[in-house]
Amino acid sequence: MGKGKRLRASRPSRDRPAGPAAEVSTNYPFEVDEQTRRTLGAQGLRLLATNLWPLDCQSCGWELGSARPSVLVTELVPFIVSASVHHARCQPATWTTGVNLTMNPPARLSYANQTFLCPLQNSDGEWHDRPLVLTNPSLEMVTFQRRQDGQWTVGTVEFFRRMGLRTPGKDLVIDKPLPDFSAELDGTILTLRVHDTGEQWEATVSGPVESRLRELGGTLLGVTTAAHPHRITHLDQMIPLIHSGQIAMGWIALAGAEQPLTETPPPEDLKTYVLHYSADHATVGELLATTDPSLTSAQAQAWALDRIPLPGDADLPRQGRLLEWQQVNRDPNAWYALDALSLGDFFVRRHDDAWTLVNVISRIDGAPAADTDDEVQDWATTAARILGDVRILSWVPAPTTTSGFTTFHGAAVPR
Ligand SMILES: [Zn+2]
Repeated sequence: MGKGKRLRASRPSRDRPAGPAAEVSTNYPFEVDEQTRRTLGAQGLRLLATNLWPLDCQSCGWELGSARPSVLVTELVPFIVSASVHHARCQPATWTTGVNLTMNPPARLSYANQTFLCPLQNSDGEWHDRPLVLTNPSLEMVTFQRRQDGQWTVGTVEFFRRMGLRTPGKDLVIDKPLPDFSAELDGTILTLRVHDTGEQWEATVSGPVESRLRELGGTLLGVTTAAHPHRITHLDQMIPLIHSGQIAMGWIALAGAEQPLTETPPPEDLKTYVLHYSADHATVGELLATTDPSLTSAQAQAWALDRIPLPGDADLPRQGRLLEWQQVNRDPNAWYALDALSLGDFFVRRHDDAWTLVNVISRIDGAPAADTDDEVQDWATTAARILGDVRILSWVPAPTTTSGFTTFHGAAVPR
């Protein structure tokens, strides 16, 4: 439960003007290395300072204390990075491009929340209080994306929008329950769960918040990394977060209360995702097509080329668009090509039962830090959610390519 109310030293104001170079002042709250300063720049470093709340070291799990924490930045895929805080002695400030498997929140991550009654006006003009749980789901870690204009943006709101949360004042529908979340009230402990992710947060509710929660059979959830919920004691402190789009919100139905309609996607919306991995290589992506496994590799590559979806103008010549097919390391039955127009990463592989063409959305080369099928599947499920915008319903074993490689198929529905 939010690991207490340890608060850290004051942070620099969010309004500090951007300097031309990413010089780090002596009162910058973190140690950052040269590459982090260079790549994030002054604007990215400001976001770092306003979205990381150091409680526990993400290496050893112990309290960070008063010494200036170091920041580890991991480039997950090009232009998407995660940043976490550590004791400098546990993890010196570093920028790393090695992809890791920990897109799911690591066990050491702390969260914090605060509950409110939120006065809201119905369409009939009447005021109705709604319970609101304001959560910071990852105090010590944040994800950034780089926009095309080179500016960095915090990934939190975008991530939770993909889970169904919405932006207040823009597209939030207050009382529409989110299908991917559930809430359970046991005494005064409210547990909010995010399905398929293992992520859950507990909040203590009492008094009017508890009674409205029971009465309405649900609660509003607000998620942000740009604030420490323990520091938000009045609702009006949330207004800057709302105006700057740094909070995502949604309605979560209470288990046992009247259930919302279950949305069942039509079968034609089902997609198949392929997870393929060995001890030192893993990919996940959408299955685009399959064909006869007796084709030669050259025939299969030509077959695949015709099926790679073209963005925009369908009359563009297909030949010459792709870089050369390249053999995948230590996988004699797999080739990949990067399509320069769509920036897609396409794999053609001979499995025991068929050639497959897969549009890979995330890959790991080098040793995956996962020991079990479950961990690799968790990584693939998260990648599909974030990068493919789909929800994987289940992973089932499928015929594979070569000894040492494992293949799973996942049924996926649009989010
Ligand atoms: Zn440590």
